[in-house]
Amino acid sequence: MTVRTRIAPSPTGDPHVGTAYIALFNLCFARQHGGQFLLRIEDTDQTRSTPESEKAILDSLRWLGIEWDEGPDVGGEHGPYRQSERMDIYRGYAEELVEKGHAFYCFATSEELDEMRAEQQARGETPKYDGRGLKLSQAEVKQRLDAGDPYVIRMKVPEEGACTVQDMLRGEIEIDWSQVDMQVLLKGDGMPTYHLANVVDDHLMGITHVIRGEEWINSAPKHLKLYEYFGWEAPVLCHLPLLRNPDKSKLSKRKNPTSILYYKDAGYLPEAVMNYLGRMGWSMPDEREKFSLAEMQADFDITRVSLGGPIFDVEKLSWLNGLWIREDLSAEQLADRLQQWAFNREKLLAVLPHAQQRMETLGDFAPLAAFLVSGDLKLTEAHFEANSLPVDEQKKLLQFALWRLEALRHWERDTIFDELKTLAGQMELKLKDFLAPIFVAIAGTTSSFSVMDSMMILGPDVSRARLRLAIEVLGGAGKKQLKKLEKAYEAL
Ligand code: GLU
Repeated sequence: MTVRTRIAPSPTGDPHVGTAYIALFNLCFARQHGGQFLLRIEDTDQTRSTPESEKAILDSLRWLGIEWDEGPDVGGEHGPYRQSERMDIYRGYAEELVEKGHAFYCFATSEELDEMRAEQQARGETPKYDGRGLKLSQAEVKQRLDAGDPYVIRMKVPEEGACTVQDMLRGEIEIDWSQVDMQVLLKGDGMPTYHLANVVDDHLMGITHVIRGEEWINSAPKHLKLYEYFGWEAPVLCHLPLLRNPDKSKLSKRKNPTSILYYKDAGYLPEAVMNYLGRMGWSMPDEREKFSLAEMQADFDITRVSLGGPIFDVEKLSWLNGLWIREDLSAEQLADRLQQWAFNREKLLAVLPHAQQRMETLGDFAPLAAFLVSGDLKLTEAHFEANSLPVDEQKKLLQFALWRLEALRHWERDTIFDELKTLAGQMELKLKDFLAPIFVAIAGTTSSFSVMDSMMILGPDVSRARLRLAIEVLGGAGKKQLKKLEKAYEAL
C-alpha cells in the first residue's frame, strides 16, 4: 500500500498557521513512508470561498517550503483537486445511498426545522433532527419530487449503540450514536456538504491516512458510517491536538497573529516557522529545538505526538527565528533574505512617493520608513496620550476599526478609507480625531505618511496585527468588555 495523505483547506479566510501545522505533519508522515501528499481545496461553501484566499493559502504554504505531489496548481491523476470543479460527482453518490436505503429525502423547510428545534429546547432537549423525513412513504416522496419541492438528502444513523473510532494517537474513542445527527449530505441547492464531499474525495483520491485537527473527531462517526454504507475501506484516522494560545485557549487571532502572511511580512524566516510548527506536540528523538524540515522528515514518528494542547507562543517563535538568523545564515545569505523581504526595488518604489517629499538627504529615508519595515512596533500607552480623545475612547475606536477592517474582503486604499470614514461618522467623531490613534497604531506617530497608504504598503495582516497590539497596549479588552463593545458596535 502506498501511503497517501492530504491537506484539505477551505479557502474562506487568511492562510492559518493551523493549516500549515496539519499540512506539515501530513507531509512528514507521507514522506517517511515513501508515500504521497496532496492538496485539495474544499470550496463547497461558495458564499464564503474566494479565489484570493485559495491563492494566499497555496502561496503561503509554498513560502514555508511545503510541497505537494498533487493539487489544483500542479495537477495529478486524481484531479480535479478543487471540489467546486467536482460538483457533478457528488449527487450520484448521495442518490446511491438513498437507493441503498442509507439516506433519505427531507422536504422540511428551514422554518419547520427552527420550530422543531425550539420545541426540543423548550422540552430541555438538545436540538437534533427528529427523523421526520424517514416517516414519508415512498409514494409521498415521489409525489413531492415530481412536484419539484425543494429537498435535502440526509444520511441515516443508528438509533442506539456507540461508534468506536480508532484513532492513531488516541486509541479507541466511543461516541454514542444518540449524539450524532442525521447529517445533510446534499443541500437544497444541490451542493454537497463537507461530510459527503470529503469522504467521497478521500476515497476517490486514494487517501490512506486522514490526519487532521481534533475539532473533527465528532465528525468521524458520520464519516466511518459513510464508508461503510458505500462499501469502501475507511482510511486510518488521526486527530492532532489543536494549537493553543499561551493561556491555553484555542489559538485565536485576538491573542496571536494566526495568518501565515503576518509572519512572512513581519520578517520571520520560513524555516524557523516550520521548525516551530514541527515542535507543536512533537519533538526530535534527541529533543533538540532547532531542526530543518528535511531532518524532521527523516526522524518523523507520528506516534510521538503528545496530546497536551501545544502552545503557539510568538515570543518562543521569535527566539527560534533569532537562532536561525544568527546561526544558519551567512552575511551574504542574510543580505539576500533582507532584499527579498523588503529591501527591494518594488518595495522602495512603493514607499518612496510618500517619503521623498519629506527628505532633505538620503539619510532621512531610513528613519522615515522604519515603521514600514518593522514587525511589531514598540508602543506604550504614552504614545496615545497626546491624542485628543480619552484613551478608553481610543481603544474603543481601534477595536471598531479593527472589526471593520477584518470584514474587508479586498485590501484597497479607497475601500479602507471609505470604511473608516463611515465608521468615524457613525461614531460621531471628527475624522482627524478618529484617525489619530490609528496613525499611532500603524506608524508609531501621527506625523507620518498617510495612514491609508501606510496600511496599503504594510498589507492587511501586519496592519490588523498592529491595531490588535495597540488595543493590548491600551489595556486590552476582557471578555465582558468585548461583549459590551460588540453590542455598541452592532448598534452603530
Ligand atoms: N476542509 C476541512 C478544513 O477546512 C478539512 C478537514 C479535514 O481534513 O477533513 O479543515
